[in-house]
Amino acid sequence: MIKRKRIFITGQVQGVGFRPAVYQIATKLGLSGFVYNDTKGVTIELQGQEDKIEEFLRRLQTVDKPLMVQIKTCKAINIPINDDDNKFVIQASDSKGVIFSQVTADMAVCGDCLREMQDENDFRYHYPFINCTNCGPRYSIVKNIPYDRPNTTMVEFKMCPKCSHQYKDVNDRRFHAQPVACPQCGPQIFLQNNKGQTTQSGTEEVVTKAAELLLGGKILAIKGIGGFHLAVDALNEDAVIELRKRKKRDHKPFALMAKSVEIIKKYAMVNEISENILKSPISPIVLLPKKPDSRIASGVAEGVNTFGFMLCYAPLHYLLFEKGLEVLVMTSGNISDEPLIYDNQQALQKLVGVADAFLMHNRQIYRRVDDSIVHIINNQPALLRRARGYVPSPIISKQSSQLDIFAGGSDLKNTFCFVKNNQFICSEHIGDLEDAETYHYYVNSIEHLRKLFDVNPSIIACDLHPAYFSTQHALSMPASKTIQIQHHWAHAASVLAEHNLDGPVIGIICDGTGYGTDGAIWGCECLIASLDSFERFGHLSYYFLPGADKAAKEAIRPLMGLLKAGSKKIKTDEFAELLKKIEPDDEKRSVILQQLDKKINCTESSSLGRVFDAVAAMVGLGNYNYFEAQLPMALEAIIDSDISERYDFEFEQTQGMPLQLDINVMLGQILKDIKARTAAGVISAKFHNCIAEALCAMALKAREKTGLNTVAISGGVFCNRYLTNRLIELLNNKGFSVLSHIEVPSNDGGISLGQAVIAAKMVQKDKS
Ligand code: ZN
Ligand code: ZN
Ligand code: FE
Repeated sequence: MIKRKRIFITGQVQGVGFRPAVYQIATKLGLSGFVYNDTKGVTIELQGQEDKIEEFLRRLQTVDKPLMVQIKTCKAINIPINDDDNKFVIQASDSKGVIFSQVTADMAVCGDCLREMQDENDFRYHYPFINCTNCGPRYSIVKNIPYDRPNTTMVEFKMCPKCSHQYKDVNDRRFHAQPVACPQCGPQIFLQNNKGQTTQSGTEEVVTKAAELLLGGKILAIKGIGGFHLAVDALNEDAVIELRKRKKRDHKPFALMAKSVEIIKKYAMVNEISENILKSPISPIVLLPKKPDSRIASGVAEGVNTFGFMLCYAPLHYLLFEKGLEVLVMTSGNISDEPLIYDNQQALQKLVGVADAFLMHNRQIYRRVDDSIVHIINNQPALLRRARGYVPSPIISKQSSQLDIFAGGSDLKNTFCFVKNNQFICSEHIGDLEDAETYHYYVNSIEHLRKLFDVNPSIIACDLHPAYFSTQHALSMPASKTIQIQHHWAHAASVLAEHNLDGPVIGIICDGTGYGTDGAIWGCECLIASLDSFERFGHLSYYFLPGADKAAKEAIRPLMGLLKAGSKKIKTDEFAELLKKIEPDDEKRSVILQQLDKKINCTESSSLGRVFDAVAAMVGLGNYNYFEAQLPMALEAIIDSDISERYDFEFEQTQGMPLQLDINVMLGQILKDIKARTAAGVISAKFHNCIAEALCAMALKAREKTGLNTVAISGGVFCNRYLTNRLIELLNNKGFSVLSHIEVPSNDGGISLGQAVIAAKMVQKDKS
């Protein structure tokens, strides 16, 4: 029997070869009708034998589904037959109606394109912008929706007849690949000196010269997919030192790039899990354990035990590496902690004193997108920075909101999040908002993403911290309701969101800083948390952080604060010699002491991050965090993993108050070990083991009281792989089921998702 059906499909269905697949299946099955992209996804009308239509729907979702397609919903309704319909066509996109589109993430060059690029007989031989439906830039070039060429930065390039033919041919793998281009009609690369003069043009000449400069120890600014990289030969110690000097980046590890996993394996340990994520179309930076005696310059990643490696992901990278390069430092193109540079003119202005030459191209990057960073936790890839390759793919939740929501995130490692129905659209990593330029970018990005997904938030969520820029911005936005959410509750909720749970669970949340409901700086919390509410079950005993913001940089401050808080239990004068060694300036120490005595410029805190700083300083790893978590990372890097012993901890329980974790006895034991000349790696192991055990013990106490058996762990401290893996193991041994982060970072990059899901739950409750 002849039927006609209208089918609505949502999901990742635009810009991924979906319509050609629909066309091919429909014509194969002799069905007529049409398909077009609209603002909700894809609409199809099919006419033909009923069983053929059924067959169509089955194939589309199984055997004939293109690689990158993710179908989320597929609804079909019967409509009247159109007697004149006798063929199947692909229609132009429709931008009317409610916009609900899916712009996809930027993807690494695919195997098919790479093969063509190496084929001398192909008209795209050695073309640095080769791409297809399965690969290439997306989010970074999209200005507006629907995702069609006129709405991308490729609009400047008029397709030549060959490209145009492929673009229009439904049987071609470049059918409607929006960035399609070739040497005749597409973008080009060129090399400029630091005066902005073009010194080389033509791919072969440019690539040869660029590689020659790199091999000669020069610093190159290279324009990629989401912005500029600064590149040097990673095996050249002098070049790496020079890059640090010019970039004003004294300590933070540099990311590395190689062209194959085989080469990466010469320098770092790669297992099956890390190999898969390295090779995926996302192509993130993956933190890999260093191999001993590697030839990588020591200045690349000092004070950490990992290298951050990624594979080539733009065609240009492969062309460069073909010219004899082994491993390149590919660090973000910026000065110090400023935002990533993505514009040619801006690069020339800002990096003039940094780069010796600029490998540019004339394809405009519309959105700056940093490289994503992944590490392996509990044998799974987990995100540390979510950007290129992931954004803007929404996180789909069972939690759904009838009202659009905006969640502003945290001020550090900021991301923000929109909620539209059950889609949680998290922004790419924005950065630290105290930087004025980053803050400006934050405000612009909110509007861009809002437009791209046509979200009109009436509910606004933000952090509880009154001084956060993100809070102040959120409070200034028009809304029917604005909710401020405690930082650690948002951390716990972000884990719940990823695992599609409502709670309650036991939340073990450890980080550096979060504004507490009592005005103190929280940072080692055991919460009983659900999406509806939370209760503070326990925390690290308060100590004072003298010198406000300085306390996050200088480890002597939390250390003296901790000793003061524990002075009833430990003999503080025994620490005098050690304190002098850490901070030789007598006057500074005495000012800090006065601040502590008189409680001037002191904040009460339960921060665990600062405890890591203090212990790192005690064992001689330095007194200063030049970048966030430098000292804790150094402490993790030296762990002697053969040591299973640990230091002691205690609990204190006062009626009607949260349980308190007391680690002062541990500080005394560390001092004793230092005096006995115990190796720093042993002390570090015993410290980490103590913290893991203490957190597990806190969870056990929470289980005793509540009967809950699920623990959610979150917070920046859990970027520490040793601690996280050990805690998960301890909790599993006690029969807990453990939820940790995979899709969003454990650090403050995950806060916006947590805020968003709490707000979504609140809306749902208000409506029912
Ligand atoms: Zn491709
Ligand atoms: Zn062309
Ligand atoms: Fe945090």
